[in-house]
Amino acid sequence: MAFELPDLPYPADALEPHISKRTMEFHHGKHHATYVKKANDLVKGTSYEKMGLEDVIRKSAPKSDERAIFNNTAQIWNHTFFWNSMRPGGGGEPDGEVAKRLKESFGGYADFRKQFADAAAGQFGSGWTWLVLDGGKLAVMATPNAENPLTSGKVPLLTCDVWEHAYYLDYQNQRPAFVGAFLEHLVNWKHVEACLRGAGVAQPQVARAAGAR
Ligand code: FE
Repeated sequence: MAFELPDLPYPADALEPHISKRTMEFHHGKHHATYVKKANDLVKGTSYEKMGLEDVIRKSAPKSDERAIFNNTAQIWNHTFFWNSMRPGGGGEPDGEVAKRLKESFGGYADFRKQFADAAAGQFGSGWTWLVLDGGKLAVMATPNAENPLTSGKVPLLTCDVWEHAYYLDYQNQRPAFVGAFLEHLVNWKHVEACLRGAGVAQPQVARAAGAR
């Protein structure tokens, strides 16, 4: 079964003014779409062709001669997760279960925010900044290029794409300004909560689960 480019979970202009429609159209319609096309070309005729996306990522990750397959499939997954990590009118401090977890693991929202922003600013070159569940605790993690937490047994909860293509049209070289806008205005905390529930560490909330991805 071929990998597919998922639709954005909101219109391309929904995150304006923090991320422009033009950035979203390039990022989803060109970059994300190209990873899908390349991944499909690369797995054709290999044992990966009939495998699910996450299996391909985990199995190709340790193999040095399969970097292209890993890079392109991981970038499919990372981008889909990034779109779902944001929503119009998001960001700021969460409440409920997520707020409780941030307090337990970081001391509070402000400490989480600082760690996340510092990790994003400090990532040299292209990569991703994550909030993950690691052995029952929440943690911030930075990964280079296409790397993601799936290959080290951590549960991804939130990600910010810090490749230049994610922000250059809107913020030029000002990555911290982009990450600040992501944290203040875009983070989809309902998605984080849904990931925690999926990992079995938050109470199910059936009514809210339907709309949260
Ligand atoms: Fe990207």
